[in-house]
Amino acid sequence: MPVNELDNLTVESVLELVKSRDPDQPEFHQAVREVMGSIIPYIQNHDKYKHPGLIERLVEPERSVIFRVPWEDDNGNYRVNRGFRVQFNSALGPYKGGLRFSPTVNLGVVKFLAFEQIFKNSLTGLPLGAGKGGSDFDPKERSENEIMRFCQSFMNELYRFVSKDTDVPAGDIGVGEREVGYLFGQYKRLTAQFTGVLTGKGLAYGGSKLRTQATGYGLLYFVEEMLNEKNESLENKSVVISGSGNVALFACDKAIDLGARVIALSDSGGFIHDPEGINAEKLEYLKELKNVRRGRIHEYAEKFGVDFNEGKPWVLDCNIALPCATENEISKDDAETLIHNDVQCIAEGANMPCTDEAITAFYRSGTLYGPGKASNAGGVAVSGLEMTQNAKRYSWSFEDVDDHLINIMKTIHDKCREYGDENTGIDYIKGANIAGFIKVADAMIAQGNV
Ligand code: NDP
Repeated sequence: MPVNELDNLTVESVLELVKSRDPDQPEFHQAVREVMGSIIPYIQNHDKYKHPGLIERLVEPERSVIFRVPWEDDNGNYRVNRGFRVQFNSALGPYKGGLRFSPTVNLGVVKFLAFEQIFKNSLTGLPLGAGKGGSDFDPKERSENEIMRFCQSFMNELYRFVSKDTDVPAGDIGVGEREVGYLFGQYKRLTAQFTGVLTGKGLAYGGSKLRTQATGYGLLYFVEEMLNEKNESLENKSVVISGSGNVALFACDKAIDLGARVIALSDSGGFIHDPEGINAEKLEYLKELKNVRRGRIHEYAEKFGVDFNEGKPWVLDCNIALPCATENEISKDDAETLIHNDVQCIAEGANMPCTDEAITAFYRSGTLYGPGKASNAGGVAVSGLEMTQNAKRYSWSFEDVDDHLINIMKTIHDKCREYGDENTGIDYIKGANIAGFIKVADAMIAQGNV
């Protein structure tokens, strides 16, 4: 954008630019619209950021890699999937962000996730750039050996683009400790180097304590901060959580620990409703069901004699709703149902789980709303701490990492207050977007037009 047009920068003009380049990436457009809605008004009042080319560079990845992933299934059939790594922004440090294995993965989805990661990683205060990647491979349908062969083939190509100092991937949907282990093993074999090229590793080979729990725990630490702001706490609150993967199960764990009653969890088949609340023993069953047996959530309903329903859990009465499954899982109608049932607080464990219309409904009704780039930043924060421990060849205790995580989530909340303070309370979207933007923008301006 020429300098003389910078005064006229609008959300629409940025979106026009993005859409003209990539018309078929609705999730990416949605993420850009949400971020620009906060930072364009800020830029208009802060001349320093009317910097030529800054916004164009901010919405264009530094590099996007797309590659073929050939592998062989257990019946000897040759299969081909598509792999992606979008290295969006390295102004603050090596690219950092997870890998997602799901049939829903495409370039637009990976770009939206990598774009969100820029601001999230900046908010953690750690030296982390932003990237994201994955494949349209569906691990749910596959045997252990097929998953290992797929991960090895994926890394056969990805290893050229990652290293402990350039790009450090982690897990996301469909990529947990098992997949990270196979990816790490193949990287080590290809390069003959044992380095911290991935985070979310097993504790036996360089993983950080608390990384598995970090996103879910961090989410609840953030929710507690949001509630404290209103002189409330999680004690005795009813909580509905979507998903039953890594983020959801550890969100449930910490919610119970902080005195809340978790009455629902879900998977793509439906949700369970346990009005008495999931206790520690039931949660252990769920962890075994999901992580070891890789079963379905309806089995919980059969085991403990509670209801299972198809669809989404947002129809249930609750004080707090924590979407921890996937993008756009709370529609306008879902939001209106939650508001009708007097929900007090929504905080995102997943990335972009609320549609634009749902967010508007929460704002209009005055419902507390925590956007994912702030509320789910605990995972990448502990990944950053894993990188530090790997670099030092040292391992911190669970308590040390937990203390760091609590401090980071509090600091993120403080930054949201600093930049999002309004007469009516904290505007968390505005606060998170502006605080995240300032640090990245300062670094990008300092580093020149690269
Ligand atoms: P997992 O693969 O461990 O779990 C995902 C869960 O969400 C599963 O229960 C899955 O059910 C459910 N799910 C996925 N897609 C859908 C869908 N379309 N409809 C309904 N349910 C669905 O992933 P994570 O827990 O790691 O990630 C969950 C979310 O959190 C994602 O948005 C991710 O980007 C975000 N996130 C994750 C972080 C991490 O550290 N892992 C960090 C920050 C954000 P099923 O098994 O039936 O598919």
